Amino acid sequence: EKMQGATAREEKILVLVRLRPLSEKEVAASEVADWECINDTTILYRNTLREGSTFPTAYTFDKVFRGDCSTRQVYDEGAQQIALSVVNGINSSIFAYGQTSSGKTYTMNGITEFTVAEIFDYVHAHEERAFVVKFSAIEIYNEAVRDLLSTDNTPLRLLDDPERGTIIEKITEETLRDWNHLKELLSMCEAQRQIGETALNEKSSRSHQIIKLAIESSAREFLGKGNSTTLAASVNFVDLAGSERAAQALSAGMRLKEGCHINRSLLTLSTVIRKLSKGRNGHINYRDSKLTRILQPALGGNARTAIICTLSPARSHVEQTRNTLLFACCAK
Ligand code: ADP
Ligand code: MG
Repeated sequence: EKMQGATAREEKILVLVRLRPLSEKEVAASEVADWECINDTTILYRNTLREGSTFPTAYTFDKVFRGDCSTRQVYDEGAQQIALSVVNGINSSIFAYGQTSSGKTYTMNGITEFTVAEIFDYVHAHEERAFVVKFSAIEIYNEAVRDLLSTDNTPLRLLDDPERGTIIEKITEETLRDWNHLKELLSMCEAQRQIGETALNEKSSRSHQIIKLAIESSAREFLGKGNSTTLAASVNFVDLAGSERAAQALSAGMRLKEGCHINRSLLTLSTVIRKLSKGRNGHINYRDSKLTRILQPALGGNARTAIICTLSPARSHVEQTRNTLLFACCAK
């Protein structure tokens, strides 16, 4: 018991990097790809025009995925081990971090679906236990939390529960029945996310989406006998706001004071991740933003965390790509 706790606490954040291919549009615009994965763990910047420049050109992570890798590979070779720890009662979160259009949503949607499919498989293979899988989804936009399963657009309040920690008041939780039900819920979220949007890309680049699967299970033979042990944990799929917002915020001292256009949640998350990567003890400022307050149980303690950093290979995006890689380096 003790040993297990000790190892889990020292668990590193898993840092994965995914390069997307140039889009057709970029190819048509004669964009050049300046980044290349030279093996499973190293990504290289090779712009011959910049040869001899001083910034580092090779970056190494737990795993890097080339432009022609499928989301299935990203799942199988990285995200899966983190996501599926939920069936053993361990909280986890998986983040997609990167500039707008780098592939966060593309990656996270696939990973969410693969995880649910495997959770269903696991449930069917373990009939000795009774499982309940609950689905909920929120969006954080300008530090306001909205329920993506509700048509009511009123922001949800966060409350401090003495036993359960931070809870989201009145959030909709759906007990997941099957695959079709999942698809239904996901399309509802997508529709809700777009309501009231004037410029679609504007909003999705500024908001965070969290899909949460909460899983409870107990041994059937003890059900209703009062002495069964229940395992409860959740896995969070976090599609973050575009990382260009963090970079902007850091260089915008004036705006910070005005309190507008600053993505407090993204900045606080960066700080929290940086501290966690140095070991999980000491004070961590979870309470400084809505995102980190909500995710605290899935970040600290024995929770497992993966960050998938998504990159555009395009030469015109090199500054943002470097920013993302610097963040990724801080997290590992
Ligand atoms: P983000 O959520 O980071 O803004 P998206 O996930 O919406 O970016 O991706 C931008 C575009 O690139 C979408 O059209 C998406 O389908 C495409 N795309 C992203 N990643 C990949 C990939 N690895 N392979 C192929 N197409 C991708
Ligand atoms: Mg997106």
